[in-house]
Amino acid sequence: MSDVTAPPRSYHDRDERVLAALRDRLLQAAGRGRVLLRGATVLTMDPQIGDLAVGDVLLNGAVIEAVGPDLGARASGPEVIVLDLPGMIVLPGLVDGHRHCWQNQLRRLICDADIDEYIAMTHGSTALHYRPADMFAGDLVSLLGAIDSGVTCVLDFSHNSRSPGHSDAVFEAYRESGARAVHVSAPPNAGQWAEQFPEDLLRLRSEHCGGTSPLATVRMGIDLRRVRPAADLMSFARDHGMAITFDGVMGPPSSAEVEELGLKGALGPDVTLVHCTDMSDGAWRSIAGSGAHVTLAPTSDQQLGLADGVPPVQRALDFGVRPSLSVDVEISLSSDLFAQMRCVLLTQRMHATQRRYRGDASAPGFISHRDVLEFATVQGAADVGLGDQIGTLTPGKQADIVAIRAEDVNNLPLNNAIGTVVQGADTKNVDTVLIGGQIRKWCGELVGVDLRRVRALAYESRDYLAARAGFTVNPVVAPSRREIQDPYLREYFASRERQ
Ligand SMILES: [Zn+2]
Repeated sequence: MSDVTAPPRSYHDRDERVLAALRDRLLQAAGRGRVLLRGATVLTMDPQIGDLAVGDVLLNGAVIEAVGPDLGARASGPEVIVLDLPGMIVLPGLVDGHRHCWQNQLRRLICDADIDEYIAMTHGSTALHYRPADMFAGDLVSLLGAIDSGVTCVLDFSHNSRSPGHSDAVFEAYRESGARAVHVSAPPNAGQWAEQFPEDLLRLRSEHCGGTSPLATVRMGIDLRRVRPAADLMSFARDHGMAITFDGVMGPPSSAEVEELGLKGALGPDVTLVHCTDMSDGAWRSIAGSGAHVTLAPTSDQQLGLADGVPPVQRALDFGVRPSLSVDVEISLSSDLFAQMRCVLLTQRMHATQRRYRGDASAPGFISHRDVLEFATVQGAADVGLGDQIGTLTPGKQADIVAIRAEDVNNLPLNNAIGTVVQGADTKNVDTVLIGGQIRKWCGELVGVDLRRVRALAYESRDYLAARAGFTVNPVVAPSRREIQDPYLREYFASRERQ
């Protein structure tokens, strides 16, 4: 039996009693007091601080106090909770630049869908039947899955906000999950709703953000369905000090709109555009010249077939725009940012290789694994409006931190930390997650989560929605696209056929 107070050599040597004692101390501290992460390989993603082959990160409550090769002298005393992490890589929590959490009791239901079938099955069908409880269930499973995979901050593009109660329910899921959530409220794409948008954004911000809910913020969402002209919505947001995220930015109509907004001076650093597939040079000049941000959804563009299906990583870089990454819809796609990082790396290298192979003298070089990890951390933070708070391990920033096991069987031995995180790691290697200094995953398990209850909520909601929408879930037979009754969707599909 080992002594609980004796510092173990590494996490491999710790016995369950030691681990449980540490977890209990972290839970009791609940984001207060000081915690020393000791002896890990540290990727700060802060160019001023750099990386540490072996180093320490000292937390003080919700924030990072110090980062350095050896902070033992600075952080001595019995009140300091010491986590020995040799063999682990410590890095900033990953940031998902855009995900529609509400849908995710329907994860992977229609994995072979294209964009039309996706719209039919969600906005034209199941979305119409959502109760607040369904919004809660979808958001909760999605956010817990995010945390499990090392994502500490999610921009939740909630475009099924049918009533104030539907929005309140997703904030309840944010609080229960412990995730840092950027709520982007937007009206449903189809069906009846309370028409509370955009005014309800102000209520959501005052009732659910700040104070006892420091992890939640609000942005204006502009999507396919425009209940007011984009310029009016942007003015409303700016009059009230809110930043703006556009989703569904793809193809010639979006390209023309973005270019025009840029020419009118309406874009700016407070605007983030999601996807940006098949945009003109003029649109890219508008984005780059205004300081607007771009969030890619690489697997979404390719798998669902958005516009030309090419995640515009090279286009963005050519115009000097560093993009962030996002999951988008789990109903068809993977749930974690490891997949996004690999997808965008492969996409850029594939296009660069093809151009060079064909004799293009101006073919770009390859982006690096560090580039894509920056997209998933630093740039993600900037693009959701939290660049001054998260995204790097910098003293004064929030303690949103992930520790990845580099000595698990799929990763050992640790030869290259960036390569291990981007190319080698998977959700099962995410050992520890802290958000705002609070422990959310420990020793590879979510902390304080009653998975039996979460499963029950997800199944109840899924079965209710399927019954209301008129299909039965059979795990070996995907539901087929059905007759679309909603007028919005009839018009949508008619216009697609005219193109
Ligand atoms: Zn989206």
